[in-house]
Amino acid sequence: MPQSNEKRKKYFKEYRAKNREELREKAKKSRMKNREKERERHRKYREENPEKARESVRNWRKKNPEKDRERKAKWRQENPEYHRKYRNEHLEKIHAHEKKSRTKHRERIKKSKAVYYAKYREELLEKSKKWRKANPEKARESSRNWRKANPERVRETQYKWRKANPEVYAAIDAKARRKNPRAGSVIMTKYRRNHRECEWSYCEQTKSLHVHHILSKSKYPEYVDGNYHGRTGNNFICFCPFHHFAYHYTYSIKRNDDKHEHSLGLLWFQAEQWADKNKISIEDLEIELAQMLPSKVIFN
Ligand SMILES: [Zn+2]
Repeated sequence: MPQSNEKRKKYFKEYRAKNREELREKAKKSRMKNREKERERHRKYREENPEKARESVRNWRKKNPEKDRERKAKWRQENPEYHRKYRNEHLEKIHAHEKKSRTKHRERIKKSKAVYYAKYREELLEKSKKWRKANPEKARESSRNWRKANPERVRETQYKWRKANPEVYAAIDAKARRKNPRAGSVIMTKYRRNHRECEWSYCEQTKSLHVHHILSKSKYPEYVDGNYHGRTGNNFICFCPFHHFAYHYTYSIKRNDDKHEHSLGLLWFQAEQWADKNKISIEDLEIELAQMLPSKVIFN
């Protein structure tokens, strides 16, 4: 063993360089043997140097992203309650974080969703079908909400479908007309003959008028003959096809009424045919329709 300080330092340095592997192995073994002590030492170090400890963890994570992810996933799996509890306690923060992340990676998410959907299309459709069958109420409600939030898409889809299936649609139209004739009963025909103009304010259309029940047939069958409280023909009103559609459309949107929604496809189809025959611009009709609705519905 060298005597002077300088010499001793040099000697140790050389010794460490020569036996690095061996020394490392030894140190590791000793740490493994004294795990508790080692842990305690670390804990103390972290307590005394919180900044440094955090920094070193950060550095390790940066250097080993894969391992970091693995470790986190493993930890979450082993501590499900902690994870759930943390989530529930910081729900707002987590939602904000998730939203931010979704916005940031919107394109990537869209792409990966499309890939996933394409890959599992059949299974997903089957699953959704099953769910709809098992939860008819919920399914109806979710469809209704979607239709309400996407009125443009609904009309677009209906339009495309009608274009693609003209025969089927004509058959549906004919059947519906038999069931709900424009002026079914003798008394309705009589009413229409006496009212030769659409009765919507300021509308002067005279072609293809529909006789509409003001109090609906289904809710008030006792006034189906058009006579309300002993008066004659006061439960009828004549509408041109467009205003007949507009009446049910605004009703279904403003009052969220399913009954009115069911007839919309057919009424719009009839309005379109009527507009086409009488050289009325569909755009004008759409503008008029938009003006009837509260702004939040139109611009959604
Ligand atoms: Zn009209």
